[in-house]
Amino acid sequence: MDEAFVRVYCPACPKSPEENLAELPAPDEPFDCPGCDERRTAAEFVRTPATSKP
Ligand SMILES: [Zn+2]
Repeated sequence: MDEAFVRVYCPACPKSPEENLAELPAPDEPFDCPGCDERRTAAEFVRTPATSKP
């Protein structure tokens, strides 16, 4: 059985580590970026980044 992974995009640094969904908290729970320690809700990390906005 494959584990579910989700690509996590940090809004505060260019890192986009993949996290195990099982380790990601609920969307409204705080999550610390493993790259820069930015703390935001998990929903903000899962959000697909805008590719063409300044
Ligand atoms: Zn970060």
